[in-house]
Amino acid sequence: MTLFYSDVFVLPLPSHHRFPMGKYVRLRERLLASGACGEADFRVPERATDAEITRAHCPEYLHRVATGALDAAEIRAIGFPWSERMVERSRRSSGATLAAAREALTRGWSANLAGGTHHAFRNRGEGFCVFNDAAITARAMQSEAGLQRIAIVDCDVHQGNGTASIFARDESVFTFSIHGARNFPFAKETSDLDIELADGTGDDEYLWHLERGLDETLERSRPQLAIYLAGADPYEGDRLGRLKLTKAGLARRDELVLGRLAARGIPVAIAMAGGYARDIADSVEIHANTILAARAQWDA
Ligand SMILES: [Zn+2]
Repeated sequence: MTLFYSDVFVLPLPSHHRFPMGKYVRLRERLLASGACGEADFRVPERATDAEITRAHCPEYLHRVATGALDAAEIRAIGFPWSERMVERSRRSSGATLAAAREALTRGWSANLAGGTHHAFRNRGEGFCVFNDAAITARAMQSEAGLQRIAIVDCDVHQGNGTASIFARDESVFTFSIHGARNFPFAKETSDLDIELADGTGDDEYLWHLERGLDETLERSRPQLAIYLAGADPYEGDRLGRLKLTKAGLARRDELVLGRLAARGIPVAIAMAGGYARDIADSVEIHANTILAARAQWDA
């Protein structure tokens, strides 16, 4: 397997900051400790280039991010202090999802051990998202691999509002988001398919809706590539998510999504997206399980 990871995914933050940066290193360690992966399975991704980023974002926005010219309100909406390292992390994380998609086209699947920055719009960022890795990846795959139909399956507990906005009125990229109705963002965008779930939704109800949403997505989009945002934040122990999935339920979610894709021979690039469990080890375990589920589907 090939997993894209870089130490620059870890952004030094003030100690009171609520973003759990430590999860990336711990995810890598946990995968190594599981025995399922060796050091040779990890690769450092390239940065997304200006040309790749501006297929999904305004050149003017990229320029302001790159040069530190965002204003205070824009920085506040993103939620990370601006630094050269923050720019580097954002480029590298988008590059990782893109690299995972390239790899998936030959190997069936691959994953970015970060990414899933679905709240980034064409001309602005929010909710810990600067550049939209799935959008950059979809545009690159259209451009360099000639793909005509791509599906984004977003199972993070928060709606993929930036992704929905970027691909509104674009039939070549199908956006599916299944999320908490009362979770951020409070003003939702319109994806090609949205499933909104009530607070406290548990495993069985979630999986019932997901299965139908997934079937509809595959039927309507007939994708040549899927990008799967495997957020760990629908978990019952998550600080931000309002749903109540168990770890076992999330493992069934991964099996359902990845199993459907594998059965139809649809390559998939996986991004981790959110995970803010009260005990960060729980988010790490859920993310690791996603990687192990992919391996079980494709590499068994
Ligand atoms: Zn999230």
